[in-house]
Amino acid sequence: MTKPMASMVKEIEYFSSRYPTREALEAAREINWDATTAGQLARCPRNGQYAIRYGLRPKEEAIYLNAGNALHAALNYYYSGADGDLCLEELRRIWGKGYDYRSNGKYGHLHLGFLEVVFKNYMDYARKRDTFKPLIVKMEDLDLTRVLGAVWRVAEDGSVILGESKVIMEFTVNGEDFVYSGKPDLPIEMGGAVYLMDHKSTNGYLSGWYFDQYRFSNQLRGYCAIVSSITHLRLNGALINGLYIGERAILTEFKGDRFGRYGPMLFDPSQLSEAIKNQYYWRKALDYFEQTGYYPQHTGRDCVSCPFATLCALPPSIRDLTIRTDYDAVDRSFLDL
Ligand code: SF4
Repeated sequence: MTKPMASMVKEIEYFSSRYPTREALEAAREINWDATTAGQLARCPRNGQYAIRYGLRPKEEAIYLNAGNALHAALNYYYSGADGDLCLEELRRIWGKGYDYRSNGKYGHLHLGFLEVVFKNYMDYARKRDTFKPLIVKMEDLDLTRVLGAVWRVAEDGSVILGESKVIMEFTVNGEDFVYSGKPDLPIEMGGAVYLMDHKSTNGYLSGWYFDQYRFSNQLRGYCAIVSSITHLRLNGALINGLYIGERAILTEFKGDRFGRYGPMLFDPSQLSEAIKNQYYWRKALDYFEQTGYYPQHTGRDCVSCPFATLCALPPSIRDLTIRTDYDAVDRSFLDL
């Protein structure tokens, strides 16, 4: 059963008159093509086959994803103006496990007490460091012409907090309607311009080298395209808000960066359109691999950190057994993510 949200922010589902219910929309359109999905195929067609077609996810990753979701939810509350106690209440709600819960493996350090300390440290950092304002809009100011469905996050005064609101919308690419979904983290105003801030929690140390991977990100540019389309504001670029959640993150003697900002990376409007076009062609590529019946392995540098390396290391004839023991099958219904 879903636990009630802390009272600060409400989630409100929206559906267009063309598809007035969730069931009607899901029956008529593919709605879960988003940056995560496209990225899985772009990383390696075989990764796409395992993650998208089979819906596989390594069992031990569930705890890491849950920790990221809990921190995201608390950050969303923080930037909606909630006090620290309410943010922590939301973190606990999304984490969904008590103080005694522990897991094994490389994410064994992630538990409720750990996440609370990370978030309290983050609030201290943000109070000294933040020089921006979250972008807040009124529902009546949004252009919903091409929005098919959404889960808006609405504050007590009725304003829409675009951060963490899920949007399913149509773009036109090559004269075709293309449905693309996204959940931008935090649109912000800074120095008279609008940017997207994206929260990244990571087990790895924060560094410019780590952040560099996002310079040309289809995900960030796609989020900017979504926000720009519904607000008619120019999105000038993106910043990364990095949170280190590796096992040393709450040690007092840790000398590395616990948090870090990178950017802004400046985007031209034509690059936002290009990102949507890229995602359209990655979707076409999925059809191509599906039709040929074979998803080739990329076998490059990305294999080092790939969640499916265990499978690729095995002879093809015995992979099915490992799929059943080491991986969960996840239903990627967009509105549930
Ligand atoms: S381990 Fe390498 S080849 Fe296998 S799915 Fe991952 S990226 Fe592709």
